Amino acid sequence: MMPYNISCYSLVAGEKPFECEFEGCDRRFANSSDRKKHSHVHTSDKPYNCRVRGCDKSYTHPSSLRKHMKVSCETVSSPKMK
Ligand SMILES: [Zn+2]
Ligand SMILES: [Zn+2]
Repeated sequence: MMPYNISCYSLVAGEKPFECEFEGCDRRFANSSDRKKHSHVHTSDKPYNCRVRGCDKSYTHPSSLRKHMKVSCETVSSPKMK
């Protein structure tokens, strides 16, 4: 008996205690070196990083990111949860 999908659960909660410290970014990582690797997107010249899970696009301006999210990621990230 499996009340819920274990692998899916671990993606959402545990196993990823390392949260990105960049304001507005809510990426999480399983270890600090992954987070460090990711933090480069914020220190580079493209600090605006798409927050959709599995998408690693980054942009120089928040408006570009917003446009990207509208076009290709927003519908995926929030299906019918409004
Ligand atoms: Zn980040
Ligand atoms: Zn995206």
